Amino acid sequence: AALRFVKVHDYLWEIPKAGGMRVPARIYASERILRELKEDQAPQQAVNVAHLPGIVKYSLAMPDIHWGYGFPIGGVAAFDLEEGVISPGGVGYDINCGVRLLASRLTYEEVAPHLERLVDILFRRVPTGVGAAGALKVSRQELRRVAVEGAHWAVRQGFGSETDLAFIEESGRMEGADPDAVSERAYERGRDQLGTLGSGNHFLEVGYVAQIFDDEAARVLGLFPGQVTVIIHTGSRGFGYQICDDYLAIMDRALAKYHIRLPDRQLACAPLRSPEGQQYLAAMRCGINFAFANRQIIAHNTRKAFAEALGMREEEVGLRTVYEVAHNIAKIEEHTIDGEQRRVCVHRKGATRAFPPGHPQIPAAYRSIGQPVLIPGDMGRYSYVLIGTEQAMQETFGSTCHGAGRQLSRRKAKKVASGRRVADELRAQGIIVRGASLRTINEEIPEAYKDVAEVVEVCHQAGISRKVAQLRPIGCIKG
Ligand code: 5GP
Ligand code: MN
Ligand code: MN
Repeated sequence: AALRFVKVHDYLWEIPKAGGMRVPARIYASERILRELKEDQAPQQAVNVAHLPGIVKYSLAMPDIHWGYGFPIGGVAAFDLEEGVISPGGVGYDINCGVRLLASRLTYEEVAPHLERLVDILFRRVPTGVGAAGALKVSRQELRRVAVEGAHWAVRQGFGSETDLAFIEESGRMEGADPDAVSERAYERGRDQLGTLGSGNHFLEVGYVAQIFDDEAARVLGLFPGQVTVIIHTGSRGFGYQICDDYLAIMDRALAKYHIRLPDRQLACAPLRSPEGQQYLAAMRCGINFAFANRQIIAHNTRKAFAEALGMREEEVGLRTVYEVAHNIAKIEEHTIDGEQRRVCVHRKGATRAFPPGHPQIPAAYRSIGQPVLIPGDMGRYSYVLIGTEQAMQETFGSTCHGAGRQLSRRKAKKVASGRRVADELRAQGIIVRGASLRTINEEIPEAYKDVAEVVEVCHQAGISRKVAQLRPIGCIKG
């Protein structure tokens, strides 16, 4: 049967509780985005999530919702610690996929003459693609440390500095990681992947601040018009992928034992309190830490590349970490639910934390404005910086969108790109692109993604995050 969408307000729609749903589903969308979603399987996935034991309040979807493994991408769901479950599909295969924003002291005019060379050097210094030669290779013993210490490990090895750490979600180290909960195979896969972007949608992008929407917030974040920035988007590579895969199988086998019935087998999960649930949590946190270390190393190599390309000292370039967010993660957090303070397990899959001003878990320097939220768009148009709000805290467990979301499959995108010279088209617009292969660039053409401005506008209008700045790309290396 077709799903029924009840309008809550112009940017929020509710699918009422029916059948086996334990809570309603709620989707943040404009009328136009909703029309497209009605043709899509993703809202049904949000409904499926609403069936899971111990889900609290709503199964939520952000305006960039699209189909994912079990849970939709752009989905947020919180679970009671006693009655609730945890699900690898609610985090995603790329555990702690996320985004770091670096801001330089330089302007567009200062960097533009060196852009070609800069992109080449970045491409050389930051390994891309599936194979990723040039990565850091570490011993299994060392990788266990990475899994526990995250970006702190990387800083100790000389990648970046202590000052980066305060500006990373969880300060770059997730507590409660247990390296014994991770399989041999995951260690094998992760050993030679530290410091690599990986393939496809992952990227490192040079851009500049094109527009500011909130002067005060921009000032606090140290952003100014024309300022050159870098966005790093990658995650936990084969290490996290293997952890997800291992625990999906473990939980699938345990479903009967815990009498869990699911509308879709891909929602495989286990009670949070069970040994399987606790082990996944401990293993997932190792994946989280791998990704923190990975982005820390890439940030370091980015600084080296800028200094080399521009013939400047690193301090002159001044690539400071503005912030780093995770957008594939599950965390135990405190939220007010029906007037009561409760600890719940929040799954954000293709969704970004958006904590409000004053929250103790955001850097002291930003506490007056709220947590920075980093939303990539595509390599041809723009990306956004937003900040978290009190309303997000009340409505979405402190969450907002994470990107534009694909609108063309990889196959369709290649078709649209065929016969065109995508890199030349972008170059004509002043954007230099390098990719591990022509295929990735074609699959990642800007038209493959929705217009991120529309997605961001929904979040802004709905009040679950607020626009601070728009960034425009000038150089991009694709995984
Ligand atoms: P995901 O984490 O879902 O793989 O991707 C997050 C978002 O990154 C996508 O929804 C898309 O909007 C954005 N994105 C993908 N490739 C690029 C790129 O090359 N540059 C920028 N700025 N954004 C991108
Ligand atoms: Mn991602
Ligand atoms: Mn990813």
